Amino acid sequence: MSRLLGQSTDAARLAAVGTVVEENIGVGEFSRLAGLLESTEGHASIRLAFSFSAAGGKGGVPLLDGEVTAELPVLCQRCLSPVTLPVMTEFHLALLDDESQNAGVQPPYEPVLREDEDAGSRGWRLLELIEDELLLSMPMSPMHELAIQCAEIDDSVAVEEDKQAPFAGLKDLLDHQK
Ligand SMILES: [Zn+2]
Repeated sequence: MSRLLGQSTDAARLAAVGTVVEENIGVGEFSRLAGLLESTEGHASIRLAFSFSAAGGKGGVPLLDGEVTAELPVLCQRCLSPVTLPVMTEFHLALLDDESQNAGVQPPYEPVLREDEDAGSRGWRLLELIEDELLLSMPMSPMHELAIQCAEIDDSVAVEEDKQAPFAGLKDLLDHQK
């Protein structure tokens, strides 16, 4: 994985030169997401394009257009056998240093405020932004697309309550609130 995704990154510098990032990384790089997966063998294909908005004061705010596709190995919540869940998400984010820049943000861009813990570095953790978007795009109960694809269900085995909704805590894993 490149340093750009893994480390704290200055979005304004990337936007100033119109940086485009294309990377393919293992899903195991996403620490929160990995905890929800049956294995970490899948890959995520990432495309990020940075630009500046015209509005927003002080020469605009950095914008991020992103597209991520991934194949996530999960457990089917109908038959509890492994299934590969294809996930595709597109996002359009305005990367704000403070709330005063909010006024200049136009749809389809969604404002995201940099977190306090990153304040000293003026940086964005791109990998975590991408992970948030992937978590948001996951269904609460992933299943085989068709019931006929499911492994035969053994009715004699009682399924424990907490195994029915392993993703119930999904929202708690998200870094920022939308
Ligand atoms: Zn199934």
